[in-house]
Amino acid sequence: MLTLGVQDLDVAGKRVLVRVDFNVPTDAAGEITDDTRIRAALPTIEHLMHRGARVILMSHFGRPKGKVDERYRLNKVAERLSQLLGKPVIKTDDCIGPETEAAVRKLKPGEVLLLENVRFHPGEEANDPAFARQLAQLGEVFVNDAFGAAHRAHASTTGVAELLPAAAGFLMQKEVEALSRVLTNPERPLMAIVGGAKVSDKIKLLENFLRRVDVLALGGGMANTFFKAQGMEVGSSLVEDDFLEEARRLLAEARERDVKLILPEDVLVAEDLKADARTALVRPQEVPPGWKIVDIGPRTVERIAEEIRKSRTVVWNGPMGVFEVKPFARGTEGVARAMAEAPGTTVVGGGDSVAAVEQVGVSRRISHISTGGGASLEFLEGKELPGVAALAAK
Ligand code: ADP
Ligand code: MG
Repeated sequence: MLTLGVQDLDVAGKRVLVRVDFNVPTDAAGEITDDTRIRAALPTIEHLMHRGARVILMSHFGRPKGKVDERYRLNKVAERLSQLLGKPVIKTDDCIGPETEAAVRKLKPGEVLLLENVRFHPGEEANDPAFARQLAQLGEVFVNDAFGAAHRAHASTTGVAELLPAAAGFLMQKEVEALSRVLTNPERPLMAIVGGAKVSDKIKLLENFLRRVDVLALGGGMANTFFKAQGMEVGSSLVEDDFLEEARRLLAEARERDVKLILPEDVLVAEDLKADARTALVRPQEVPPGWKIVDIGPRTVERIAEEIRKSRTVVWNGPMGVFEVKPFARGTEGVARAMAEAPGTTVVGGGDSVAAVEQVGVSRRISHISTGGGASLEFLEGKELPGVAALAAK
C-alpha cells in the first residue's frame, strides 16, 4: 500500500508541493457552507509549517472545464484556511507561470501559499505531462493529501507524483488505512449496509461486499429493485427495470456465499415525495398502487440495529430513504444512531451518507467518516485508485 508518509520526509526549508482537496460546497453567493475538507487537511499543513517547510498548496474546485471561471476561484478558501491556521495564506491568481513562480520564490520557511484552481487549465484533467512538469517545478517534494481526488488520474494527483519524490499526507494515510481495514482482515462479523437511490450505482460495491461480508443489509431506493426482482409490486417507487436480472443474480450470489442478507421487512410509503404527503407503514409486498417507498420502517431499523450490535465491523454507504425530506429521514436517522452506539468499528463513506450522519449529529461517534465521496465508493468497490497507486509505486 502506501510506502512513504509526510512524517518520513525531511522538509525543513524545502518547497513542498501539497495536493489537497479543497473542493468545498458553496451557496449561490459563493460562501463556503461546509469547511470539513479544509479542516481535514490541517494536520498535514500544520505539520509541514512547524517543520519549516515552504508549503505550496494546490487543489481543484468545481468544474470550470479547463478555463478561468470567476465562480471557481479559491480566494474564499484561502481566507477560510487563513482563519483556521491563524496565519496569513498567500494566494496566487494562477497555478503555473512566471508570476506564480515569483511568488513561490519569495515564500519563506513556515509560510503557506495556495495556488489558483488547477482545473483552470485543460492539462489538469487531461493529465498533460507538460502541465504536470510546470506544477512539479514549483516544488522539491510532493505530498498528496487529496484522498477525495485520488480516483482521478490528473496532473496534480498522479502526474506530479511521477516527477517528484512523493509521500502521502495524514488524511490520505488515515483514509487508506481505515477503508483498507474494512476490506482486508476486518474484525468479524463484518456487516455492510448499502442504500441510496439506484442499484446501477452500487453493483460493483455490492459484488465486492458479497465476497467479503458476513451480513449485508439493503435499504433505500435500491432495495425496490430487489423487491420487484422477487415478484413484489412496488407501486410508483423508484425501480430500475433494466436491473431486475442483475438483482436476481446478486440475491443468488448472497445465498451461494452464505451471506446473511437483510432486506426491509417494513417500509414507509408516501403518495408523493413532499413532506406533507399522506404516508403509511406497510410490508413491501403491500405497497398501494401509485404510492412510493420513501424509507425503511421501524421494524427494519431495529433488525439492522440488532445486527450492528452483533458485528465487530460495520461499513455503511447510501441513505435508507429520501432523507432530504424530513418525515422520510427516520430510517436513515435510526441507522445512524445505531452506528453511533455500535460496539465495534464503524465506517461511513459516500457524500449523501456522510451528510445524513452529520444531520443526525453523531459523526463524532463513528470510527471513520470518509471525506472521499466518489473516491471512497471506488475504494470500497475494490478498485485501485490511481492517486494512491502513484504514491505506492514510489
Ligand atoms: P451516497 O452519496 O452516500 O453514495 P447515493 O448518492 O447513492 O448515496 O444515494 C443518495 C440518494 O438516494 C439520496 O438523494 C436519497 O434521496 C436517495 N434515496 C434513498 N432512498 C430512496 C428511495 N426510497 N426512493 C428514492 N430515492 C431514494
Ligand atoms: Mg450521492
